[in-house]
Amino acid sequence: MASYFDLVFDIPNSSSFTYQVDDKKLASAGKRAMVPFGRRELTGYIIGERDTLPMGVKEESVKKIRRVVDADPLFGTENVELAKWMADYYLCSLGQALSCMIPSGRRAIVPVFPDIEESSEQSLSISDEQAAALGAITKDADNFPQIFYLYGVTGSGKTEVFLRAAQHVLNQNKSVIYLVPEISLTHQTANMIGSRFGSLAATLHSGMTPSTRLSEWVRIRKGDAPIVVGPRSAVFAPVPNLGLIIIDEEHDGSYKSSNTPRYHARQVALKRCQIIAENKGDARLVIGSATPSLEAWKLMEDSKTIKRLDLSRRLSGGIMPKIKAVNLETSTSCITKELKEEILATAAMGRQTILFLNRRGFAYFYKCKSCGYEQTCRSCSVSLTWHKTKNKCICHYCGYSESVPKVCPGCGSVEAGYRGFGTEMIEEEVRLTFPDLRVRRVDADTAGKKGGLEDTLAQFKAGLIDILLGTQMVAKGLNFPGVRLVGVVLADTGLHLPDFRAAERTFSLIVQVAGRAGRYFPDGKVIIQTLRMNDPVIVKSCAMDVAGFYKAELGQRLALNFPPYSRIIRFVIRARDEKKADSAINRLASFAKPLVSGGIDLLGPSECPIGIINNNHRRQLIIRGENMSTIHAVARKTMSLYEKGKDTKVYLEIDVDPVSML
Ligand code: ADP
Ligand code: ZN
Ligand code: ZN
Repeated sequence: MASYFDLVFDIPNSSSFTYQVDDKKLASAGKRAMVPFGRRELTGYIIGERDTLPMGVKEESVKKIRRVVDADPLFGTENVELAKWMADYYLCSLGQALSCMIPSGRRAIVPVFPDIEESSEQSLSISDEQAAALGAITKDADNFPQIFYLYGVTGSGKTEVFLRAAQHVLNQNKSVIYLVPEISLTHQTANMIGSRFGSLAATLHSGMTPSTRLSEWVRIRKGDAPIVVGPRSAVFAPVPNLGLIIIDEEHDGSYKSSNTPRYHARQVALKRCQIIAENKGDARLVIGSATPSLEAWKLMEDSKTIKRLDLSRRLSGGIMPKIKAVNLETSTSCITKELKEEILATAAMGRQTILFLNRRGFAYFYKCKSCGYEQTCRSCSVSLTWHKTKNKCICHYCGYSESVPKVCPGCGSVEAGYRGFGTEMIEEEVRLTFPDLRVRRVDADTAGKKGGLEDTLAQFKAGLIDILLGTQMVAKGLNFPGVRLVGVVLADTGLHLPDFRAAERTFSLIVQVAGRAGRYFPDGKVIIQTLRMNDPVIVKSCAMDVAGFYKAELGQRLALNFPPYSRIIRFVIRARDEKKADSAINRLASFAKPLVSGGIDLLGPSECPIGIINNNHRRQLIIRGENMSTIHAVARKTMSLYEKGKDTKVYLEIDVDPVSML
């Protein structure tokens, strides 16, 4: 029995610490333990056991574990190997990496599993394209990992291919992880998988309580649930004998974590499959989307590492909808005449409309014409949004709110007011314009209410709502037969953002939301209202010219040397004190500059596009280079120099392969 145990902690310090324990039977690698750490008590992860102390550590300095948290190990060597890679790649500590993988619950609470009848084999006969894709995915191979990209137009039956591939892998007594974007899709897909695979399925998501998460984790680890569905974090599910990871809607931003370590589920999934391949196993990765990320698209174009599988047609009676761009500039109302007529025509047929606008609230920009006063958050450098039903102006970044000004707070003029519309204003306008139609809004404000989103979607599906109006929540994955019309109220909301992915994001959002129309009947229509009729992003998304858009956008990225033609690591400094933020970013830059050589450049130091969030001043420095290993080296060296003698109350955030540059 081991005498000592090595622990790591969820802190930036990357070393491990050795402890001893009174009852040696309780402690073992893979369990969590509570230990004294400096003046605090911390929960750590036991990553190793040893009979002798590490060199230079004295017996009398070794502290004792106070309590072992887990009865059985929660993680094994595979988890530690993956966490080591994460720490290395995402520049965090091993403890931080483990902590983001493993549930934090103390006690497993056995969840009540709904009695789901395992449905018999689907009667659906699959199409030739689906059969070809499935054949490729399940074919015997001799080099691993096998990676596939199921590139299929919206509504082309990707899900059916995923489910059958999963069934194939389960039949071989291997396990499957099925990743879906956050929000509505988790629930929708979990239900579908539950009804097909019954109690073999488990869900892991952030909405669960830590104890429920923990018990699902334990069940999965025991091999009792060989198919796991969930968002980003489900990529860590401890399934034994992993055979397949599916990533649905790969372009979705929720696959990238916004907390340390800022991992991307696609990258982690690939690594898990590679680790299995190195151990002579066969784990496959199947990714799918109608609008792949530019990174994935480029990989498909110039390498044989990802095999592209095409699904070009809709299968359940629909065809791709007709799309029309309409100029909003010349319209007096935010519902143009064209859109209004189509909504009425759709309702007259007894069919449904989805209206999409990527901005919630009533109006979002307060400006005084006489003195130029602009209403911004007192803690963030962004405008407040007027929420009319709450009768408040709210900051969407920190939640700060204040009452609505009657006159300009700067000069008392009445010539001041809000401009720019949000979902709440559109809802009011739609209700006034169509008093006889049943309208429902879904966005972060309405979905917060318990059951709000699911309830609304169920009612929409049942035909009890004529017009569903909302933000991204209505753009993602919804599959409703009754929808004939999709209206995009303002397509260009995200185009002006100072982020090199602004065009990609706008394009994919328009194509995805347009894809909600005409899924079951060949009469789908889409109206895209815009202030930039000639913008290439608008033109190409209206033409559903995916390949054309990628070609043009790749050209832009190449010209500007942005990913996927380069790799990026972004440092963000955050501090309450502006001077401290400035001096920290300058120190960081002064360490990085001498390390830069051919093929690498620095962008900044500069203020972040959103310079203040929650009273924290934000500064950035971007390291850019041809490949990851060289910029990793620069980043590591810079960080270690910076660590020595750094200021207090200044925080460094590290983002490898950032997806948001705001
Ligand atoms: P995607 O994920 O590609 O957007 P879905 O998987 O949601 O598309 O499929 C769209 C619709 O097509 C679903 O209602 C599904 O049941 C149906 N479908 C899938 N495969 C077939 C098939 N082989 N024959 C008929 N309908 C199909
Ligand atoms: Zn004024
Ligand atoms: Zn704020």
